Amino acid sequence: MGVMKKAKYIIKKMTAGLVKSCKKVRDINVLSRVIMWVAAAMILIAVCVLAFYKPAREAVFPTEHHDIVEIKSGDTLSKLLSAKGFSMRDIDEISKTLKKDVGFSTLRAGKDKVDFISPSENEPVSKIVIINGPWQRFEVDCGQPGTWQCQKVDIERDVRISYREGEIKEGSSFYLAGLEAGIPEGILIDVYDLLAFEMDFERDIRAGQKFYVLYEENFASDKKVENGHVLAVSFDALRGNVQMYRYVKPDGHAGYYDENGNGAIKSLKRTPINNAKITSSFSGKRKHPVLGFTRAHKGVDFRAPTGTPIPAAGAGRVVARSFNRGHGNYVKIRHNGTFETLYAHMSRFAKGVNVGTMVKQGQIIGYSGSTGLSTGPHLHYEVIKNGVHVNPMTVKLPAIENLDAKNKPLFMEYKAMLDSKIEILKSDSKQIVRLDDKDKK
Ligand SMILES: [Zn+2]
Repeated sequence: MGVMKKAKYIIKKMTAGLVKSCKKVRDINVLSRVIMWVAAAMILIAVCVLAFYKPAREAVFPTEHHDIVEIKSGDTLSKLLSAKGFSMRDIDEISKTLKKDVGFSTLRAGKDKVDFISPSENEPVSKIVIINGPWQRFEVDCGQPGTWQCQKVDIERDVRISYREGEIKEGSSFYLAGLEAGIPEGILIDVYDLLAFEMDFERDIRAGQKFYVLYEENFASDKKVENGHVLAVSFDALRGNVQMYRYVKPDGHAGYYDENGNGAIKSLKRTPINNAKITSSFSGKRKHPVLGFTRAHKGVDFRAPTGTPIPAAGAGRVVARSFNRGHGNYVKIRHNGTFETLYAHMSRFAKGVNVGTMVKQGQIIGYSGSTGLSTGPHLHYEVIKNGVHVNPMTVKLPAIENLDAKNKPLFMEYKAMLDSKIEILKSDSKQIVRLDDKDKK
């Protein structure tokens, strides 16, 4: 092949390539134009869809119109129905049917909601749904005017159990450690109330103390609605491990018990000295026997010859062991965040009882006498609830209750079941665990 021939061949090749390239460029131009047109069309369609979306959806998928009213104080079903245009006769009939068929009577402010459903916004109400808390609703069908049909619908409650454990860190509180462990605040407050008679959350907390809480979580269709009851609590308190289990007796009464089936809720005794006669009752006003003028008697007096041992009405911490002109020698015990008790006119204090001493229920704290403003030996006993003196004989106190012979074995069986659930959740706290159906309460 000559040089010329070679050059000619190269030029020919190059020309062919160029023509091909030009054709490609033209193709690209066409392609880009097509793309631009398609894009423009798509944007147009998108704009149209956005602009006409709502009417289009209503036309294709007709949806009911809901008007949900949250009940406020003063709201009544009659008022709401009247505002919706129902006649007095219809309102009267709906109310009667609701009462007769499903036992519904009044709406609860701040709790209930009413959903007025109509086929579309401008049509009359065809269905009324009274949302009675998360687990119950009352439905009223208004198919034909004047023909009302009611039914009660129970929302299925799926009770799952949740386990959280934690440890008190240096300088931390039980509250902070509890939140850190993932215990919801409401559950933590319930745990506080359960443990309050056992320990002082300000002074009995030490780094290294371990605790756990087992509690219910209520789900509806796989959605968590609310937390339920505290089922079990364990806390390494200064005086030893405290354990509590919630147990529902066959008669439906629920209570908390320790690992041996003894009532775990500690309380106060209304009369610290058993069978002591009351010589003066609690009253707003009375004539003071020594001072002579009328003033309130903030406690109850019990007859008690000098030297009668005075037991603590409940477990707690001694916050005062002192003398004043009125009370004479007195001891004051703080039981929990709510209750304090005071014992006055003592002849002497019991050994080892000082400010800061933790006492058990029934532990002797002193001996009766007639010190201070007193006409004779007796025990003057005061109960202070949230800083206010209350009548020890009538104030509402948590019940002290142990399980009887019939319930104890049932409780032990139930406790073993709860313990086994705790073991399962300890190994993997994310598992879905439920109590057996028969234990669901
Ligand atoms: Zn008194």
